[in-house]
Amino acid sequence: MNGDVHVHLDLVRPEEQRIRVTMEWTAVTSRQILKFPQWTPGSYTIRDPVQHLHSLQLSAASGLVPLRRLAPHHWLVDHVNPGPLCLTYVVEARDLTVRTAFVDPEFASFSLAAVVMELDGCRWSPHLLAVSCSENWQVHCPLTRDGDEWRAVDFDELLDSPVQVGPFCCQPFQVLDHRHNLLLMGDPPGGWPSTLKADVERVCEATSRLMGTPPPAGDRYQLVIQMLDSGYGGLEHDHSAVLQFNWSALAKPDGYRQLLQLVGHEYLHQWNVRRLRPQEFRPYDYGQPVVSEGLWFAEGITSYFDLVLPLLAGCSNRSTLLRDLGDEISRVLMAPGRRVQSLAASAEEAWVKLYKSTAVSVDSQISYYRLGAATAFCLDVRLRQLGNSLAHQLRALWATHGQVGRGFGRADLKMLLKAIDPVLADDLDRWLDIPDALPLQETAALIGAKVEPVPLSGPDHGLTLAEVNGCVVVKRVAVNGPGLAAALIPGDEVIAVDGRRVRASADFASLLRVDVPSLITYARRSCLGTTQLCPVDGVERWCLSWEPAASSEQLFLRDRWFRFL
Ligand SMILES: [Zn+2]
Repeated sequence: MNGDVHVHLDLVRPEEQRIRVTMEWTAVTSRQILKFPQWTPGSYTIRDPVQHLHSLQLSAASGLVPLRRLAPHHWLVDHVNPGPLCLTYVVEARDLTVRTAFVDPEFASFSLAAVVMELDGCRWSPHLLAVSCSENWQVHCPLTRDGDEWRAVDFDELLDSPVQVGPFCCQPFQVLDHRHNLLLMGDPPGGWPSTLKADVERVCEATSRLMGTPPPAGDRYQLVIQMLDSGYGGLEHDHSAVLQFNWSALAKPDGYRQLLQLVGHEYLHQWNVRRLRPQEFRPYDYGQPVVSEGLWFAEGITSYFDLVLPLLAGCSNRSTLLRDLGDEISRVLMAPGRRVQSLAASAEEAWVKLYKSTAVSVDSQISYYRLGAATAFCLDVRLRQLGNSLAHQLRALWATHGQVGRGFGRADLKMLLKAIDPVLADDLDRWLDIPDALPLQETAALIGAKVEPVPLSGPDHGLTLAEVNGCVVVKRVAVNGPGLAAALIPGDEVIAVDGRRVRASADFASLLRVDVPSLITYARRSCLGTTQLCPVDGVERWCLSWEPAASSEQLFLRDRWFRFL
């Protein structure tokens, strides 16, 4: 059709690790604007994928057309005769993450947000995708097939469709009679767990039960699991999720359950954040950061339920869930940044903070994933007290907003809560806006549980150390800790404790005693210095456990809370 945009990706020489892109369309005006996406929905930071683009050329029937660059990712064509245009460029594809582009002689995996240009005036036009590759490779893409091509109804659907290419096959599975495909890439050393497909099915079914609807992706869902030597993460799409996990994590006792939690997390995003979307993301602006406090709901609520889904699927048990939730709460309580940054601010600052974390970020930031999950726990228990549940509220928001494509904001959430309990709606404001306002201990007590510190077995010196080129180097100095009192700073090299050489970070702690000052020799900018460090007793982590003397009222609420649906 005349208004269609044709996108052709050439992968026939994968050893080059490049994608050769051709985009063809018909210009209806003499002025054309081309924009390369600045970010990928689901990963809220500007990564400048245009840095990997080169050899850009635009041609018309009359020959090459000059392009004027207005910004690193933005070009303008001033005068071109209306008619067919052809844009070609190359994307260097060497970054194997769920949001970038990667090609090598064994397979290719890419997000089209890192590959395809947005053509002004064509955003809502159908885009047809074709991929050329070796005949031994198959192309897997969650778009509708249209002959030799895949058809996206518009640019957004194209961008939301991750492409996997290689000599691997899909394993079909069913979720409530809807056909899905499981695509496994990279065999772990011990092989894939034999129960994986069945357990993935159960987790996906449990997610659909939690949401009270069949999967919105219908018969078109592609679940990709890439098992690598390192890496962890996932990216959600309307009809797909791409997960990265690593062999060593899978081999750990909790690794398989964590993989299932990641599956549940990305599958639940099919509802929460993809279709039930914060209002600021309707529609997405791929050209700049889009600030939204709603990310706390998108990721926090999803992170809370991903802990629960293996239990709902029959793949875990109550005490394991208590431990998983306790670990999440512990990570919140161990982060001094919870006293600095509110949950809403954490979500709004995602663009410049969460995705750019360093060793010292923990002192001034709190993850909206983790604090969001802890907030979801507090909301859920309070709603259970009122005969309601967080899952019920999520389903209600889905019905009024997600299902009909309306973006939501805090006012919509509060309206739902107000109808149940105005106090809880006001509490949510405080939990979102005021740092460290979450009543975790009090909430745990409602279900006969307690949150307690676990003492550190050794002395707390208040320093995070790393071994760099054979040297022991300070990476972080804890706020108000002994290291700060000793005026040590990140970057200092620790040389000796009381005259004894320190060659490994473990040596450092073993030479210290609680409440006993030690003389630390260090190097800063190649000059030696000394200081007194006096370690204290510290907290290793926090533990969520059952209160043995819980009342019958607490046990009743606990039982209700465990239903989750
Ligand atoms: Zn997520």
